[in-house]
Amino acid sequence: MARFRMYPTGEQEWQLLLHCAQARYVWNLAVEQRSYWARHKGASPGYVELARQLTEARAASEWLREGNAEVQQQALRNFDLAVKRRFDSGFGEPSWRKRYRDEGFRVIGTDRVPEFEPDGSPRLNRKGRQVLARSVVVQKLNKRWAQVKVPGCGWVRFRLTRRDLPEAKTFRVTWRRGQWHVAFALVPEPVAPPGTGEVIGIDRGVKVTAALSDGRMLNCPQLNSKERARLRKQERRASRAPKDSPQKRAEHAKAAKIKATEADRRKDWCEKTSTMLASGFDLIRFEKLNIKTMTASAKGTAETPGKGVAQKTGLNRAILAQGWGLLRTRTEQKAPGRVEDVPAPYTSLRCSDCGWIEKNSRKSQAEFVCVSCGFTCNADVNAANNVAAGQGGTPRPRSSTGAGGTTTRQGSSVREPQRPPPR
Ligand SMILES: [Zn+2]
Repeated sequence: MARFRMYPTGEQEWQLLLHCAQARYVWNLAVEQRSYWARHKGASPGYVELARQLTEARAASEWLREGNAEVQQQALRNFDLAVKRRFDSGFGEPSWRKRYRDEGFRVIGTDRVPEFEPDGSPRLNRKGRQVLARSVVVQKLNKRWAQVKVPGCGWVRFRLTRRDLPEAKTFRVTWRRGQWHVAFALVPEPVAPPGTGEVIGIDRGVKVTAALSDGRMLNCPQLNSKERARLRKQERRASRAPKDSPQKRAEHAKAAKIKATEADRRKDWCEKTSTMLASGFDLIRFEKLNIKTMTASAKGTAETPGKGVAQKTGLNRAILAQGWGLLRTRTEQKAPGRVEDVPAPYTSLRCSDCGWIEKNSRKSQAEFVCVSCGFTCNADVNAANNVAAGQGGTPRPRSSTGAGGTTTRQGSSVREPQRPPPR
């Protein structure tokens, strides 16, 4: 990702804000439709159907009709992609976009450029014709300034803080804390494997973001308690300010600034960690997460209200804040073909030394002591060891035991222990 500060003229800014509002509007319509979608009707509409409905909506609404169709269609394409990737993106179901908080839209490049194979020869389709890819239209003005073509706005200037112009297929325009940014979607270059044959297992969790099978425990930086308190204060003030007032806007902007800081730290951490993994190990194994069930609402239904809703909400937030999805995505991009997903059940209960699966081995959140062989380890590292070995495990304990001698199998379940709620 290459992000630059953008400086639109007054007229362009007005147009960009309209793009943002309309992209948000059609996205939210799609979210609403999906939330009302009855299961018996099958899968909720995909992009083609959504685009057809957009045409109808544009015919009915003057506001939408006068806006840019490309921007609106792209918002629906993004929505469709978010739905498809909801299980492994780390964001779960696409959610409602809010004014001031999620302002932005994506633009697909309009230039056509020939694609090439890794060996440098032109990429051809089945009919033997050159494959063309999209590319964004950017122009360098001088050492410090460049401009990008935005639909409906013409050339918009941005501050060039790198030597080279970005080469990307798409870019995203965002408005945050009164500033415009343009972010070009760059796929990171693959990193060369070390060639040592080393395998690393990674267990992602809430207490420790990523426990590695070599014993390292990595934590994704978050807001500290002081920053969190300040965020709560700004959010409270924003919610109490009169509707559509300048104060409300200002308070929202202050809150957004703190959140942006957190997101920046998380992204930075993911970049550094994924580079470390891709360059340090030949094979990288992640435990296969089911983020959907882990972040599913605990509210329950009217007949059977869920328990611990507040804790679960906090946990959801903690999970999403960890950027698990981003770490996996970036590692895959930097180490293509060298990333594997290992099924996760029982990785936290299985002894990585003798293979015995027993609930009682997990003494606490942090401690693992095998009841069969006495192997002692940090619980997260033990899980990472299992992942590195490619063993999520089936609930079948070994019949012969390890160093501990004969142990009778007690009537214990092999259910994963419930995680305690985060602080
Ligand atoms: Zn053991």
